[in-house]
Formats: sequence, C-alpha cells, structure tokens
Amino acid sequence: MPVRPPWALAEDDFVARCTRCGDCLGACPTGIIEKGRGGFPLVSFAAGECTFCGKCVEVCKPAALVRAEGKAPWSIRARIGEACLALQGVVCRSCGDRCEPRAIRFRLAPRGVARPELDSGACTGCGACVAVCPADAIAMFEPAEAAV
Ligand code: SF4
Ligand code: SF4
Ligand code: SF4
Repeated sequence: MPVRPPWALAEDDFVARCTRCGDCLGACPTGIIEKGRGGFPLVSFAAGECTFCGKCVEVCKPAALVRAEGKAPWSIRARIGEACLALQGVVCRSCGDRCEPRAIRFRLAPRGVARPELDSGACTGCGACVAVCPADAIAMFEPAEAAV
C-alpha cells in the first residue's frame, strides 16, 4: 500500500475525501509528497524526510489529512535489509548519524564491524535514514503488513 502523507485518514476514507488538488505537494518543505497512482498523493523518502511540521495537514481543505491531539502521524517504521554494508562487514553508520530519535544503535561485534540495530519502538517513521543509505538497504513498512 502506498504511504500517504502523515495524519491521513484510513485509506478508504482518504481516497473518498482527497480531491487530488495537490496542495499538500506544494506545501511540503522537504518535497517528499508526490502524485501517485490516480493522482493521489504519496510519500517518497528518496527526496528527504518528514519533519512532522504539519504543513500538508494545514493546507488540506477537504480534511483528508487530519491532525488531532494524540493521533500518531502514521504507523510506518524503518527496516534495515540484508544489503546493509555494516551487516556485510563494511564500516558504515550513515543511517545512525541521521536518526534523531536514536532508534538506530550500533553494536560492536567481536573482531568485526559494528552492526546496526533498529528499535522499532523508538522509530518515528520519519524516513531520514532512507536516502542516506549508500546501499539502499532501508525500506519503510507497515508493522501490520510485516506478518503477512
Ligand atoms: S508533515 Fe511536513 S515534512 Fe511531513 S509530509 Fe507533511 S509537509 Fe512534508
Ligand atoms: S546507512 Fe545503510 S549501509 Fe550504512 S549502516 Fe545504515 S543500513 Fe547499513
Ligand atoms: S525512520 Fe527516522 S526514526 Fe526511524 S530509524 Fe529511520 S531516521 Fe530513525
């Protein structure tokens, strides 16, 4: 399923409300919102990260994006795949350096290169680690889809 902008309604409601006006695309300071299939907006972390500034929500007149007290922006989380250089024995800490909540920690391996460990509980799904990974090893996923 595509990643909708933060604080989007559940997919069916989102698609029903979103008029595909594109206002959120222009409002996003990091430029991570693109026009996706059918003209509906989706988030791509290839261009940057979500700072959770809420500007996309502010400009969404049809209220397909709704920021409410205590409502999480989304449930997506980052996952580090096998292509990770550090997991292959090559020194790299690029993702950890960009992770503000410090959800990625490097654990020293005996006689080896420190390996990244990602704490999904601390990850906000901001996507800041995605584009900086030289091995393109980090992907975002919906935890609910992980077991599928
Ligand atoms: S919250 Fe801000 S940075 Fe995140 S998608 Fe919306 S406008 Fe872009
Ligand atoms: S940036 Fe990529 S290659 Fe480097 S440690 Fe993180 S996941 Fe591994
Ligand atoms: S998505 Fe953001 S919070 Fe999660 S591991 Fe990557 S940089 Fe850290």
